[in-house]
Amino acid sequence: YGTLYIVGTPIGNLDDMTYRAVHILKEATWIAAEDTRQSRKLLTHFDIPGKLVSYHEHNKGKSGEALLDKLLAGETVALVSDAGMPAISDPGADLVAEAIERGVSVVPIPGPNAALTALVASGLPTDAFTFVGFLPRDKRKASETLARWKRQPATLLFYEAPHRVEATLKLMLEAWGDRRCVLARELTKRYEEFARGTISSCLKHVEANGPMGEYCVLVEGDSGIAGDGEDEIAWWAELTPAEHV
Ligand code: SAM
Repeated sequence: YGTLYIVGTPIGNLDDMTYRAVHILKEATWIAAEDTRQSRKLLTHFDIPGKLVSYHEHNKGKSGEALLDKLLAGETVALVSDAGMPAISDPGADLVAEAIERGVSVVPIPGPNAALTALVASGLPTDAFTFVGFLPRDKRKASETLARWKRQPATLLFYEAPHRVEATLKLMLEAWGDRRCVLARELTKRYEEFARGTISSCLKHVEANGPMGEYCVLVEGDSGIAGDGEDEIAWWAELTPAEHV
């Protein structure tokens, strides 16, 4: 059988492409991409001729079957997404599971990932963390999800679209009260910014500056103290995110 490579690509800064990713993409018979036009730009930048096939949320059943046929016929397939690691809030997990099921070897080629990049510079605990990714679009479902994570002691990691950041911070405030929070914006890009403070100060920051770019929202886990550690975080509340950057 062929091999399925799961290839990480930059989340903004092209210098974050790894040598190994370039090498594997050059070698692969097929490159399966979420958005072939987007990936073509990346491939062109690194002089990768690659044959692109489309694999995204809406064709993953059919396209996945076709890719498995290629893999079973001994061809090599490299999966990339628009940014970061495939299968992380991006298509890929189904294909990986199917490939394993059919005895195809799956090899990860690690690369940038927005959540981990945000976490390591957030200042929040990194010893235990929970990646939640995108909340459901539906407000009630989003609130239910937040309620489920309320007593989770690990740092919580979310992805959010710019136009929804404000609403999401409000829901978090309702669900958990105020807690330490970090907004990581435009990671690896020219206007990279970390706003470190509390959920309410981050909310003020977004309201004042407008939502711009792509965000990771990181929130401290439950402190385990009754009242949700409100006394503990009091000194943070005094700081605006800008002062804390
Ligand atoms: N697979 C990607 C990864 O490994 O990080 C995530 C893809 S997901 C569809 C896109 C979301 O990731 C964005 O809405 C944003 O929340 C986050 N993201 C991606 N690039 C980012 C960046 N440069 N800065 C901040 N957040 C980013």
